Amino acid sequence: MELSRRLNPITDKQVQWAYAHCLEHIAYRTAKNMLTCGDCGHTWKSESTLGDTLCGCTCPNCGKTLEVKDTRKRTFRQCCYFCVVTVCKGCQVIRIVMVKADSRKGNAMTFFSKEVAQRWIMPDGKVITVARLRGLGFTYKDLWIFESEMEVRPHHAIYDIISHCEHYPKVRVLPIFRRNGFKGSFHNATPFRFLHSLLTDSKVETLLKAKQYAVLSRFIHTYDMKRKWNSLKICIRNNYMIKDAVMWNDYIELLEIYHKDTRNAKYVCPTDLKAEHDRLSARRERELERIREKNEREREIAEKEAKIREEERLRKDELLYAEMKGRFLDLAFSDGMINLHVLQNVQEFYEEGKAMNHCVFTNGYYKKENVLVFSARIGEKRIETVELSLETMQVVQSYGIYNSITEYHEQIIRLVKENVRDIQKRMVA
Ligand SMILES: [Zn+2]
Repeated sequence: MELSRRLNPITDKQVQWAYAHCLEHIAYRTAKNMLTCGDCGHTWKSESTLGDTLCGCTCPNCGKTLEVKDTRKRTFRQCCYFCVVTVCKGCQVIRIVMVKADSRKGNAMTFFSKEVAQRWIMPDGKVITVARLRGLGFTYKDLWIFESEMEVRPHHAIYDIISHCEHYPKVRVLPIFRRNGFKGSFHNATPFRFLHSLLTDSKVETLLKAKQYAVLSRFIHTYDMKRKWNSLKICIRNNYMIKDAVMWNDYIELLEIYHKDTRNAKYVCPTDLKAEHDRLSARRERELERIREKNEREREIAEKEAKIREEERLRKDELLYAEMKGRFLDLAFSDGMINLHVLQNVQEFYEEGKAMNHCVFTNGYYKKENVLVFSARIGEKRIETVELSLETMQVVQSYGIYNSITEYHEQIIRLVKENVRDIQKRMVA
């Protein structure tokens, strides 16, 4: 903290650089081809008649190069970070500054900037973060309490997230980094991770000294490249420069799929990387397509077989039902208003269940041995479905649509009771 307090404030020049380089500068364009500069608020008529092909312009008032946006919005808010790479008393420091810009159509843009975090890399590789407090909202990266103090804070992923930002071009690094091969470029990695890795991971130093620049950022920021260190070593040993890290990485993974020796320069260092990559990836694509087709065919066959099994099962159930309930099937009673009849087959269970929205079919009542199921109707209209126990000769349940009890419920139960004797006769017959 003592060292942190010794740092000079972020300079005006640094902030001005960020406003110019890290923010978008736009011109609002309306239907009438009028342009409004988002930076100074000046409005003018565009000379370009080919409106659609115009994508950049220069403000005649402030001279800024602007990106043209067809928008009806009247405000444009931006927020981003940039960092200043510097040193302080033998420590490497990455200072992270938040920049905000508010543009209102027709007004000059307003700016705001504040340093929110410093990442201190000690010569032994230890990292200490000094930062302001963040507001609630755990990973929301724009929420800082600007009036809070810069203090040493425990690590949080947010500090890595905001470290992914542009850096002020003038950088100062500890002599050890120069000795380890640093010449001013971070090779598309974030300055913080680049310098920290260079201090703590000798492989990064090796890659840097071997000038494998295309690989560096991916090696530092992702695990997949670290996993290929053995192949990378072969490239370095053979002075093979990897120019496209993404393609080379994919290519090595294809080699692994085909069990090729990824420590053999013959495979790892192809003269024409693109041709080899494309050849293998086309082969892989064909394979995956074949697998997909095979799976599709198997799924279709399985579906067909399941359907056949289902039909067979239903056929068996029909036979079983006819056998179990055959002697009851012609039973039908009426009190002049309500008609009761025994459900005739599995198909009728299905229709009854569907019409009444209950589970007489789905729960397989047609399979129950000591049960007789009636449909109680007035004319053709279904009123309730009745389950009678053949053991006790009692109505177990009788329900209308959606398992409701209808106004005819008692009447239906009475009608069953009156005819119990007839049903019993069938059982001994
Ligand atoms: Zn302007």
